[in-house]
Amino acid sequence: LKTPSEAGLTWAVTRNENARTDADREAILADPGFGNHFTDHMVDICWSEKGGWHRPRVSPYGPIPLDPAAAVLHYAQEIFEGLKAYRHADGSIWSFRPYENAARMQRSARRMALPELPVSYFIDSLKQLIAVDGSWVPSAAETSLYLRPYMFAKEAFLGVRPAKKVAYYVIASPAAAYFPGGVEPVNIWLSTTYARAGKGGTGAAKTGGNYASSLLPQAEAYEKGCQQVAFLDPAGNLEELGGMNIVLVRRDGTLLTPESDSILEGITRDSILQLAADRGHVVERRPIALSEWRDGAASGEIVGAFACGTAAVVVPIGRLLAEDFEILHHGDEASELALSLREELTGIQYGRVEDRHGWMARL
Ligand code: PMP
Repeated sequence: LKTPSEAGLTWAVTRNENARTDADREAILADPGFGNHFTDHMVDICWSEKGGWHRPRVSPYGPIPLDPAAAVLHYAQEIFEGLKAYRHADGSIWSFRPYENAARMQRSARRMALPELPVSYFIDSLKQLIAVDGSWVPSAAETSLYLRPYMFAKEAFLGVRPAKKVAYYVIASPAAAYFPGGVEPVNIWLSTTYARAGKGGTGAAKTGGNYASSLLPQAEAYEKGCQQVAFLDPAGNLEELGGMNIVLVRRDGTLLTPESDSILEGITRDSILQLAADRGHVVERRPIALSEWRDGAASGEIVGAFACGTAAVVVPIGRLLAEDFEILHHGDEASELALSLREELTGIQYGRVEDRHGWMARL
């Protein structure tokens, strides 16, 4: 089956003959967890230096044939994205600001010397996958189908240079509600031994190595009884968590968030700050020294903090634990603000609240 699409791509679609039965799928969707189960199909598009982007396909989900010399396995030339498909009450399926993910993937590609996937191809790839696997988008409260677009160096070559053959894929994984028992504040471990990124490094790109390097400090966080790890820059400014951005709440309602060229620009953070600005909150994006948080929490100037990202949306930070000090936030005011912004954003995502910024895109 060939289906020409809005983006001008002609997709070759091969249906999975061994797709899960409705009953098997429903059993998975009843308790999906996160990242454990994958839908029946995947999407890929090839790129070569000579041919550009070509051969877009939808095929049965399964192993990728890869030469043992494929450059990604040696030099980690790889990028990815993460966003969700949401089912609305009328059954329709939507994504949240996917053009922002497409643009971020292009920025990541530039930094990692990978080819930029045209935005229309990115959007099209999501639509193609949903066209065959839409029944995998769950409908229970706060559940979703997590979409994972990624791109890697496929060329079999051991020289260190940008690969001349690259693959782009999209897979999808149903996701349970992140906080089934209600949103719980998180404890954060402040890593001072390890850094996530450096000036001029790859911190702003969504590339695998940033996550590989966060695993050891993340393990340290677990040992300290914390769920997440926070990183600083070499000057002692706040950066972000292993997989979420940070926002501080000042007593006067001002929201502070780090501006840095070595953090990942979160789409959730940008959206939450927009919603807060709509409500009249002042938003400051600038470098934030850890001492500003620490001293501000001690004096009562900083009343709370929250973390935000696609997976958990928004979660209040209860405690920041460091080697030689801790910051405790019991700030009900800040938690209430975080939770009400969370409620508004998820309301937009699930179609309960008017989408006044035009953020939702139907898949
Ligand atoms: N920072 C890092 C390091 C992340 O991995 C993520 C998750 N993509 C975020 C921040 C939050 O980004 P977003 O809101 O787009 O999910």
